[in-house]
Amino acid sequence: MLINGERTTAIDERVFAVTDPATGEAIASLPLGDLEDVRRAVDGAEATQPGWARTSPRDRARVLTAAAQLIRERVPALARQLTMEQGKILREATDEIRGTANVLEYYAGLGSTFRDEFHRIGRDLDAQVLRQPIGVCAAIIPWNMPALLLAWKAGPALLCGNAVVVKPASTAPLTPLSLAEILHEAGLPDGLLNVVTGPGEVVGEALVAEPRVRKVSFTGSTATGRRVMALAGADIKRVTLELGGSDPMIVCEDADLSAAVAGAVAGRYYNSGQVCTAVKRLFVHETVADEFTRRLTAEVGRLTIGNGLAPETRMGPLNSAGGRDRIRDLVDETREDEAGTIVTGGSEPGGAGHFYEPTVVTDVAEDSRLLKEEVFGPVLPVVRVRDLDEAIARANHSPYGLGASVWTKSHAYMREAAVRLEAGIVWQNLHLKIPPEVPFGGIKQSGLGRENGLQAIDAWSEQKTVLLRP
Ligand code: NDP
Repeated sequence: MLINGERTTAIDERVFAVTDPATGEAIASLPLGDLEDVRRAVDGAEATQPGWARTSPRDRARVLTAAAQLIRERVPALARQLTMEQGKILREATDEIRGTANVLEYYAGLGSTFRDEFHRIGRDLDAQVLRQPIGVCAAIIPWNMPALLLAWKAGPALLCGNAVVVKPASTAPLTPLSLAEILHEAGLPDGLLNVVTGPGEVVGEALVAEPRVRKVSFTGSTATGRRVMALAGADIKRVTLELGGSDPMIVCEDADLSAAVAGAVAGRYYNSGQVCTAVKRLFVHETVADEFTRRLTAEVGRLTIGNGLAPETRMGPLNSAGGRDRIRDLVDETREDEAGTIVTGGSEPGGAGHFYEPTVVTDVAEDSRLLKEEVFGPVLPVVRVRDLDEAIARANHSPYGLGASVWTKSHAYMREAAVRLEAGIVWQNLHLKIPPEVPFGGIKQSGLGRENGLQAIDAWSEQKTVLLRP
């Protein structure tokens, strides 16, 4: 863990192993933190935050810019570390590290736009709206995009003058620790960004329940998000939740099929299917469904699985044995219940790594778990639909509402779908892409609040209204 700018052991000196999901081998041993470690981290953050809050946004932005520069200089080493702890292929890890630098630069750019508001309300009444830091905040991040999500949270939080205590996922904590060290190297005062490693139920919950933590930003499963929200409710803490998704991709009869097939493959099998906004349900117009499925199946069959460090690998292992087992059980259940036809993939290659074949399922039963739950792995259910109306109705038939994409050349279709789809983000002829310039977040059980864009500044600051009678 990293507290007050220094790598430190847990108070009780216990440790846990971080393993490479491609080999099952231990690659690092990290402190197994508990309540006392959380307290130490919050002590440090609380002591440093007021001084940071007094600096100008421009000075804070300078640190983010310097950190982004250091990250860019170290892309190969950081990407390799990310692949080894998380499993994703090196090209994807490289993109994520570069994206992390982009996000920090984006927030650094916002430093020069910071302004308080002034209103002349009446002849003898003025008002100011001051933007102030929240204080000590918690960032709980998952293992699927650990670098990018650290930047999504720490970037705006630090820019707004807050201190942050990070709880990284136990299966991908090394890259967040390296990034926190880089931010210190770039000039962040010690204590402003502490990282406490250890189990979510202990460290994560202690952080959420800690009375001095005023805001919690959490990304992860809906189940854990529900727990975080309940705990944070005790003190009415500010909460941002980015939770699960079951994104629909709708392929209309006029779609460019080659682009749609490529989009489905990238959208589902990127990061072995472990992305909140991955394509998790595919609805294809019946007139193009056969051709689309034939091409999709052929493409998916060509995805070589293996260690993410090997240049020929197109898809790495799942991040954990538990995650792989959940996928295997789901596909086995689909096969046994005859709830779908597995047209490619559908088995576990074996060996020490947590691999599962990229899988496509057709003829999917309406009540299949593949359509009802968040499937966090490389399995894609393909459903035929009569028209856009049916596609939208079925897409919306989900407790989730994160992203949705529509593949069409028709402006009219797109307008209709963009309004009616229940999602926080809707793409036309692309999926997955989330630029930092625009707000991102889900509706329904996919989350609460928004990250990114100018909205991130509101999410990481308090606004105070001052009425003046000069
Ligand atoms: P979790 O939501 O449990 O984990 C996300 C983060 O929360 C991790 O840092 C974890 O720490 C921490 N955490 C766990 N329990 C608590 C708690 N009680 N209080 C506070 N923090 C906690 O996801 P899992 O890793 O268990 O993944 C399970 C499933 O969740 C996946 O298969 C997928 O369906 C979904 N998921 C969705 C994500 C998304 O982006 N939509 C991201 C990750 C998961 P620790 O690692 O120590 O447990």
